[in-house]
Amino acid sequence: MFSLPDLPYNYNALEPFIDEETMKIHHDKHHQAYVDNLNKVLEGHEDFLKMDVKELLQKLDQVPEEIRTKVKNNAGGHANHSFFWKVMSPKKTEPKGKLLDAINSSFGSFEDFQEKFTNAGLGRFGSGWAWLMVNDGKLEIIDTANQDTPLSEGKKAILCLDVWEHAYYVQYKWQRGEYIKNWWNVINWPKVEEYFLKTK
Ligand code: MN
Repeated sequence: MFSLPDLPYNYNALEPFIDEETMKIHHDKHHQAYVDNLNKVLEGHEDFLKMDVKELLQKLDQVPEEIRTKVKNNAGGHANHSFFWKVMSPKKTEPKGKLLDAINSSFGSFEDFQEKFTNAGLGRFGSGWAWLMVNDGKLEIIDTANQDTPLSEGKKAILCLDVWEHAYYVQYKWQRGEYIKNWWNVINWPKVEEYFLKTK
């Protein structure tokens, strides 16, 4: 059985950048629904229910075809959100050290990285995610549709941003750009650095 992880901070901890109501709905309703749907669609498939969600995502080809899409979407939703909560923090932090060096050498400057990542989130048509990935030691930005996830691929994700409307509509309405602009204040850079160093 899969279960909903607790948020690593209070629901209101990311205010004023992400409000309490958004966090409650996002975590308790949306993320919970991915977990519940995943458990439900895998009822009777004990082997898959015992797996870690990343392992399950890597073994999708072994999942019976009639439930594979549902498993892929809900396992992706569960994995993506579990990762997303961890790369945010109420504490204002900055990228530094080897991570900052890698950002500068991959994108030119932190500002150039910020602009490129913001554009990935803004440019994702409909629902999806923006990601900072490590590919052969080099950083790259990608965006994915719906709950497609790069978390089970060889490339390593170190930061992600949810740009589904449910991630910002309560507080920011149609203004995805305002949400992304404010989100830069709540990134847990020490955590991103930890993920980055683990890829070495
Ligand atoms: Mn979401």
